[in-house]
Amino acid sequence: MLTLNLPDPQSKPRIVVIGGGFAGLNFVHQLDTTRYQVVLLDRHNYHTFAPLLYQVATAGLEAPDICGPLRKSFRRKHDFHFRMLQVHGIDPATRLVHTAAGAIPYDHLVLATGTRANFFGNQNIQAHTLPLKTVPDARRLRNHIFQTLERADLTDDPEERKRLMTFIIVGGGPSGVELAGALSELRKHVLAHDYPDTPMDQLRFILVEGEGELLSSFSDKSSREAYRNLEEMGIELKFGMLMTDYDGRVATFKDGTTLSSSTVIWGAGVTGEIIEGLKSDSVLKARYVIDDHLRVAGYENVYALGDVALLTNDEWPRGHPGVAQVAIQMGKRLAKNFNAIARDRPTTAFRYRDKGNLAIIGRNRAVADLPPNLHFSGVPAWFVWAFVHIFYLIGFRNRLFTFLSWVGNYVTYNRAVRLVLEPTLEEELREGEERFSVIDRR
Ligand SMILES: Cc1cc2nc3c(=O)[nH]c(=O)nc-3n(C[C@H](O)[C@H](O)[C@H](O)COP(=O)(O)OP(=O)(O)OC[C@H]3O[C@@H](n4cnc5c(N)ncnc54)[C@H](O)[C@@H]3O)c2cc1C
Repeated sequence: MLTLNLPDPQSKPRIVVIGGGFAGLNFVHQLDTTRYQVVLLDRHNYHTFAPLLYQVATAGLEAPDICGPLRKSFRRKHDFHFRMLQVHGIDPATRLVHTAAGAIPYDHLVLATGTRANFFGNQNIQAHTLPLKTVPDARRLRNHIFQTLERADLTDDPEERKRLMTFIIVGGGPSGVELAGALSELRKHVLAHDYPDTPMDQLRFILVEGEGELLSSFSDKSSREAYRNLEEMGIELKFGMLMTDYDGRVATFKDGTTLSSSTVIWGAGVTGEIIEGLKSDSVLKARYVIDDHLRVAGYENVYALGDVALLTNDEWPRGHPGVAQVAIQMGKRLAKNFNAIARDRPTTAFRYRDKGNLAIIGRNRAVADLPPNLHFSGVPAWFVWAFVHIFYLIGFRNRLFTFLSWVGNYVTYNRAVRLVLEPTLEEELREGEERFSVIDRR
């Protein structure tokens, strides 16, 4: 039987934080735990540095290089308690969060649950495409890429080979652009040498975007630069195309176009990770509606941070962008306000300081929009991107290993992690079916 084993907070208020992403992590770091007991809950026991997931998917980095163990991050934090649990319900009336190990009482609740891939209710697309949102997603995608190429090398059917060698990336946001760039470099520097008997000119990477441009949240200049770079790198770019169906073999678009492909990477959107239990008018468009003190509408002691929070104001009428900086700054602001309350000092409203946008497209190719109005690209942007990502990675080990891997990849043009180590989705499904058929026979 599971039990929570949490110590009594004594006279201190207990703050339960759900989610150890950028928001939850920065909140806990900043919080004065001599004044509060903090219980952090996450379904994983690690923090994921999502901006580098695409490098795990394209064999540039190992998964542990971009993950930080949550217990280690707070080893020296007083009265900090981590439990690896999925929260499946909140009861604000009794101030409890519900988990498989039991209900946890809270005085204050911080929701920092982030987002998950949005398939817009399309079950076929959900079942057959590959999202890139978590570490398991990235590892599955990497495995799938190499497994698919191995199959392409083995088939004697030209049509089947074409299908296997056509990769579709859906979504022209930063993740789609970065992934497309990395795949193009993988083709040029690694695959062309590793698969001498496979016709590499048939290996197609097609990036499809529903709107009319790439990187729509960036400046026009950066958007155009991204387009120019990806075109130069041999990525096929298609705009105004909305995927309506994908059965694992053929992708269908709204205008009736079809594309035969065994790989669709889904980066078309995300939706908030909402937990059951709060009033329906606290949630809008799958985000918790919050005020400028980050408090969820209708509740005195429930807060939401980061991607799952919707804070609108004159500057951000449609809400703040779903980027790490918003989550980090919200986490820090809320903790500072809790610390201020503990000392009878005034609290401060949240105000986002936009530090700009960066996206990497390939070797020496990146775009940067820095406030107030600085837009640049190429090698300088590439250096800024590398520095910022190393700086924000969690833990010395990750910074060191990532830096060394990048230097190694840069000098040798190699990608070390191109092994097929895990079962493919099909194999997993087949194994599952076999297991079930054994159970059925019993
Ligand atoms: C592929 C990719 C690339 C990106 N690139 C960039 C970039 O270059 N720059 C940038 O600024 N931003 C980027 N982002 C966005 C950035 O990662 C997010 O804005 C940021 O992670 C939001 O932080 P968060 O703390 O709100 O949520 P997250 O970091 O998503 O953390 C949420 C946490 O909550 C946990 N959780 C969720 N539900 C539950 C539950 N019910 N019970 C227990 N635990 C739960 C999850 O396991 C997770 O650990 C990228 C995102 C992705 C997916």
